[in-house]
Amino acid sequence: MVRTEHPLLSPSLGSGKHLVSFTFGDPQASPKVYIQASLHAEELPGMLVAHHLRALLESAEAAGLMKGHVVLVPAANPIGLNQRLDHKPMGRFELDTGENFNRHYPDLAEAVWADLQPMLVEDGARNVSTVRALTAKWLRAWQPATELQSLRRQLLLLAHDADLVLDLHCDWEAVLHLYAEEACWPPLEPLARLLGVQAVLLARNSGGGPFDECLSGQWWQLAERIAAAGLDLPLPQGCASTTIELRGETDVDHAHASADAAALMAFLLHAGAVQGTPPALPPLPCQPTPLAGSETLHAPVPGVVAYRVRPGDRLAVGDPVADVIDPTAAGASRVHTVRAGVAGVLYARVSGRYAVAGGELGKIAGEHAFRTGPLLGA
Ligand SMILES: [Zn+2]
Repeated sequence: MVRTEHPLLSPSLGSGKHLVSFTFGDPQASPKVYIQASLHAEELPGMLVAHHLRALLESAEAAGLMKGHVVLVPAANPIGLNQRLDHKPMGRFELDTGENFNRHYPDLAEAVWADLQPMLVEDGARNVSTVRALTAKWLRAWQPATELQSLRRQLLLLAHDADLVLDLHCDWEAVLHLYAEEACWPPLEPLARLLGVQAVLLARNSGGGPFDECLSGQWWQLAERIAAAGLDLPLPQGCASTTIELRGETDVDHAHASADAAALMAFLLHAGAVQGTPPALPPLPCQPTPLAGSETLHAPVPGVVAYRVRPGDRLAVGDPVADVIDPTAAGASRVHTVRAGVAGVLYARVSGRYAVAGGELGKIAGEHAFRTGPLLGA
């Protein structure tokens, strides 16, 4: 194992942060799996999973079982980890710019396309290597102007050439679920089984430039550009990436984290990154649903929220989800019941129990796509 400290751009005199990565196995070996935790810095279940996974990887490496190589970044956002306001963590948005730490990643297809086009050949594997080399060149040439840009660049430098990328997040209160692009689903299906996810939300470019889609989107978008240019040349999907939502913010305990780390390790065996007999795959607990079919429920009025259902509950259209109560209302209509507009599992709900008008209450994984435009929340 190699532990590396990557300095970030210093934003101010006398101030400097760094990112820490751990590399297991030969950096030239494949497959490469990149795993990071807590890019949204107050989302801590993944950080504890990384701690448990690190011990498993250390044992595997000591036993000579690393076939491919794994890069693990247990605390992917040192900027957000250091932001607090009113004694509360503020790890989702950078306070200086208001930017979400998991948005605004660059368009890597656009970044390499002009250079790639004349270099394409009829060998798909060679084209994958060329894309990775051009991406590395582009990232190295990127001169970040801010600390936040330097964090994005460093994370991409560590992850851009990975075959598999696992980005560990969590929701407010939630059951285990994951987001991925459609092109990534086949190689990720065993992971969904091993983790026992209760919802899989698939999209094709959700919008906003999240980390996972920056890495997976590059490949299918380049394949589309190749076809649009009239070139009959192969480019396989070089990276399958996913955002894994490890339940809710307070689900940070050894029992969950050690089980999740064991599931990730089993996936590494399945993927051929670690040598050994992979465990039998359990059944897939849920079928994937389109992210465009996920309904976000909103409070119609401000008030105190009393939930009628829990994350993991399966709902039919019209089922009551929460009462939003305005105890100051003059008339009789003090209770506003918010109901499911689609059928499916309630996979997440907010942790606050006071809603402002229009505030988010929860999310239901519906089977049928109905939304258009940017699909991710703030
Ligand atoms: Zn997150």
